[in-house]
Amino acid sequence: MNAGKKNSDFHVHSRYSSDGHLEPERIISLSEQNELETIAVTDHGTIRGGKETRKKAEELGSPLNVVVGAEINTDKGEVIGLGLEREIQSDELGRVVDEIKEQGGEVYIPHPFDRLRGSAIGLNALEIVERIDYVEAFNGRCLLSSFDRKAEGFADEYGIPKLSGSDAHFGFEVGNLEPGPGRFLTAALAHALTKITGLV
Ligand SMILES: [Zn+2]
Repeated sequence: MNAGKKNSDFHVHSRYSSDGHLEPERIISLSEQNELETIAVTDHGTIRGGKETRKKAEELGSPLNVVVGAEINTDKGEVIGLGLEREIQSDELGRVVDEIKEQGGEVYIPHPFDRLRGSAIGLNALEIVERIDYVEAFNGRCLLSSFDRKAEGFADEYGIPKLSGSDAHFGFEVGNLEPGPGRFLTAALAHALTKITGLV
């Protein structure tokens, strides 16, 4: 895993997410345009988008490294599994972590302290803290940078490596990994479009 690389986006959704729009080919071309070396496709509840994107990248001879993942809505909040080959069956936090680890995957906690999202894991993360491989210390869709800072503080306190993810559901969000005004404009537009289209 290319932990900590600025040119890696570890949180992208494809059309295989119920709320995603992006075809695998489009994710690949946008990633190349944004000079990303590695992306993780982390659809809600399924690895199908990640597998399809990895296959397409191979077929196209793309240099892009595609990590197959899924974002799982557990009973205690959202957890991402990276490096998955099989679907996660459980929705119980501890069991989900077991299933990720059993297949050699890694546990990545997205937007843990985004209080505007009911799905954030928050301090429930303490229940699995010794088995967390990465914390998302930057999420492209966080509207307040304080949410990122809290995630960063948590990662530092427990000595957990940090990764960044755009949380892209629309094309213009892929590679949205830089803090600053651009991030907020992109996030605000994404949230507005999500409302308009009726998709979460
Ligand atoms: Zn997401």
